[in-house]
Amino acid sequence: MTRGLVFGALVVVDALAAIAGAGPQGGGGGQQPPSAAAIQAEKIRDNLYVLRGGGRIVQIGGVSVPQAGTTAAFITATGVVLVDTKLPGWGRPIIDKLREITDKPVTMIINTHTHMDHVGGNVDFPATVEVVAHANTATLMREMRPVTGGPAQPNLFKDSNGRGLPGRTFTDRLTVGSGTERIDLYYFGRAHTGGDAWVVFPALRALHAGDAFPGKGVPPLDANNGASGVEYPETIAKAVAALTNIDTVITGHYQTTLTMADLRTFGEFTREFVQAVQAAKRAGRTIDDFVKAWKIPERFVKEGYASTEHLRPIRPDVEVIWNETK
Ligand SMILES: [Zn+2]
Repeated sequence: MTRGLVFGALVVVDALAAIAGAGPQGGGGGQQPPSAAAIQAEKIRDNLYVLRGGGRIVQIGGVSVPQAGTTAAFITATGVVLVDTKLPGWGRPIIDKLREITDKPVTMIINTHTHMDHVGGNVDFPATVEVVAHANTATLMREMRPVTGGPAQPNLFKDSNGRGLPGRTFTDRLTVGSGTERIDLYYFGRAHTGGDAWVVFPALRALHAGDAFPGKGVPPLDANNGASGVEYPETIAKAVAALTNIDTVITGHYQTTLTMADLRTFGEFTREFVQAVQAAKRAGRTIDDFVKAWKIPERFVKEGYASTEHLRPIRPDVEVIWNETK
């Protein structure tokens, strides 16, 4: 075991203890047992909350990052619209946590993409809750394919007899609700998967970008579920150009909200990363050589970009770009 791994294991325990307010509970290699107490609600607007936590906590560059995706809760006159539902087992804790905020029921779930740390809680909601996702994501959720360079995914929606699967899909754009409660969904092309939805709350000048903008690091490329490294920077550029009048960006995993300027920087980081991989391939180098030699450019280190190598090796992402490069 390398020193890095030992350190990683220690900080996972520390982060868990801090979150739980007690010693590490539940064991299981740093898995948090599902409970409302393990979810932190951050008020972004009077009617928009971010629910963090749920699942393993890891440390990247000295900050705690929950393995589970960030959930957003938009409270409308008639009910709560959720964006993403964390890992399997976390739907009920999300419902319990919402009781501290509102007595309105969840009426709609929007899923940003097909990963189990974003759709896992879907199955815990009543069948009357409308689930909305990109058409490609709806298809992928029926299969729950393994993640490239990551884990196998439980076939959640087979086990639920289809409960929690999207009943409403879109391909380019979809608007739900109206007036100050309008939500605009966009698809700008392949990025983290082949069905990444961008969810905009125009009246609140807020965006949930899902894992198309996971945080400040190398973006995980799930080619098995349609990701493209080569197309990724263009997808981000399209989002930056199209999504104006936004002050607050909710990301898939970062520990705070960010801004559109941060999204632009992430697009530049991703473009430079893809170009560096492509240059290495065209220069006749090997994947191993690239992975060993690559360092985060100084300009991005200053922006808080950190190595995710101990969390998720970058090699699978390099391989995806490598295979896409002729
Ligand atoms: Zn993801």
